[in-house]
Amino acid sequence: MSKDCIFCKIVHNEAPSSVVYEDSDVMAFMDIRPVSEGHTLIISKQHYEDIFAAPEDQVAIAFKITKRIATAVKKVTKADGISIVQQNGKAAGQDVFHLHIHVIPRFEAVKMPKFGELEFANRLTLENVAAKIRANL
Ligand code: AMP
Ligand code: ZN
Repeated sequence: MSKDCIFCKIVHNEAPSSVVYEDSDVMAFMDIRPVSEGHTLIISKQHYEDIFAAPEDQVAIAFKITKRIATAVKKVTKADGISIVQQNGKAAGQDVFHLHIHVIPRFEAVKMPKFGELEFANRLTLENVAAKIRANL
């Protein structure tokens, strides 16, 4: 665990999250500042700063579950499309330096906003959508 890492705190139940999926390697939960309802993050449980720091098998495991989560998110949100986003380094827009993959529901003619400028969702809304995604995994 890396001290002061928000995603490590979530893994260790020291910070709140709306969990969609968890196993011994990865965890998936709702993004607190969603691009759209259903925006989910898949993270490695181990603290790896980015894709370069993580072992190949851990990256593969995270992307394997991403496919399952993306399928459930698309079904629940009835999105026209799903963007899978994975940012490495400040220049790429990475803000949390713990390996994670975004699953983002997209809709026709709606542009992708900048992540850092989005509103916080309330916990109840996140819990509700997380429950629907869990039920469709
Ligand atoms: P990135 O810019 O790729 O590093 O994305 C980090 C994402 O983590 C952003 O979309 C944030 O909204 C999200 N985030 C930050 N803190 C939390 C948190 N405590 N719970 C859920 N999502 C978070
Ligand atoms: Zn961490």
